[in-house]
Amino acid sequence: MRGTTREEIFPLPEKGIDTAPFWEACNRHELVVQQCADCGALRHPPTPVCPDCRSYEVDWADVPGTGEIYTYTTTHYAASPAHEDHTPYNVSIVLLDGTEDIRLITQVVDIDPESVEIGMPVEVVWEDVNEDTTVPLFRPS
Ligand SMILES: [Zn+2]
Repeated sequence: MRGTTREEIFPLPEKGIDTAPFWEACNRHELVVQQCADCGALRHPPTPVCPDCRSYEVDWADVPGTGEIYTYTTTHYAASPAHEDHTPYNVSIVLLDGTEDIRLITQVVDIDPESVEIGMPVEVVWEDVNEDTTVPLFRPS
């Protein structure tokens, strides 16, 4: 079966106890990451324990919706029949501005997938997949 919408083509995120606040913020078109309430360290993806000080106390911090391509891959092979009409596509890691090491796994859109380059400046664009799920994608800025 060939899909036409993101919901049909790509798996939707699973919202667990640690990740739900991230996805709820995405639904409001806000980009947030976990911040340790004790030592202030930012971290992503969400985890129950601060890797710096072992605290379980968590806050959520707004982060910029801008950054640069840290690395990427361009997928030409359709991993399932649903992807056959949607290759090539890129899977990119974006290093967010103003952070030392907060990186999001995402996709760069509004560009030929073959034209994505390391260091390219990008900005977030929100894709409302369905009424419960919005995903942060990026486009060249
Ligand atoms: Zn900490």
